[in-house]
Amino acid sequence: MDLGIGGKRAIVCAASRGLGRGCAEALAAVGVELVINARSAPALEETAAAIRARHGVAVTAVAADITTPEGRAAVLAACAEPDILVNNAGGPPPGIWSDWSRDDFIRALDANLLAPIAMMQAVLPAMTERGWGRVVNITSAAVRAPIPALGLSNTARTGLTGFVAGTSRQVAARGVTINNLLPGIHATDRAEALDRGVAEAEGIDIGEARRRREATIPVRRYGTAEEFGATCAFLCSVHAGYIVGQNILLDGGATNITI
Ligand code: NAP
Repeated sequence: MDLGIGGKRAIVCAASRGLGRGCAEALAAVGVELVINARSAPALEETAAAIRARHGVAVTAVAADITTPEGRAAVLAACAEPDILVNNAGGPPPGIWSDWSRDDFIRALDANLLAPIAMMQAVLPAMTERGWGRVVNITSAAVRAPIPALGLSNTARTGLTGFVAGTSRQVAARGVTINNLLPGIHATDRAEALDRGVAEAEGIDIGEARRRREATIPVRRYGTAEEFGATCAFLCSVHAGYIVGQNILLDGGATNITI
């Protein structure tokens, strides 16, 4: 299937590895020019070079913290009017509700609520003016079924879900879609860090922690960044113009809900 977005320009935030990189790779594979971002310059440059070599598209790397106004300004300076925006950032650390301070909440809200909103506010005016645009926010399965230890994530991401639910309906008439992708467990550094935490807490090795978690997923495995990226690319395609304000679970069936 031709996704019909060859030659379009995308910003993919937090994309040197993991799910953001999966989205960047899948968009590059269908001819989208990229601005990719992460904080660590060497890893980001390496990813940019690999994507250029593999897919032959222009890739600009902007090393910056997307959760800060300066970081977002640097990314937007490289591409002020993208056709496609993929919002992403690192997830908050696990913990317990009684320990989180105001500062912990502010950090989580900055990263997983206010940063994606600021990016949307920056790019939506030109998208609606041109009559075409795609925004995909990487959120979490935690917005459908809370993960108690990730209360900071539950809190920030449900806020973003509410913003998208309303805003997506306000821009849809102008050819712009906004949707959220909700990852369940995927084989990335983030998942490994969470497994390491479980292994330490329960006195087991990390392989055992992963096997136990895989056993709870109907498909019996972790998702991959490649399949996550492919779904993102479809949402960004010309074929996805009727998908508006949706929260799409990519979790191997792990969230035990009917709708
Ligand atoms: P990951 O493998 O740890 O990769 C995170 C990427 O984001 C890296 O490229 C990292 O590069 C970049 N990044 C982190 N903080 C950033 C910041 N402030 N500014 C710019 N770039 C930043 O994570 P992932 O597994 O792909 O997860 C992506 C998102 O999905 C996270 O929010 C995570 O909580 C959420 N999620 C993941 C899973 C899962 O199973 N993997 C499940 C549910 C939700 P630098 O460190 O160099 O900045």
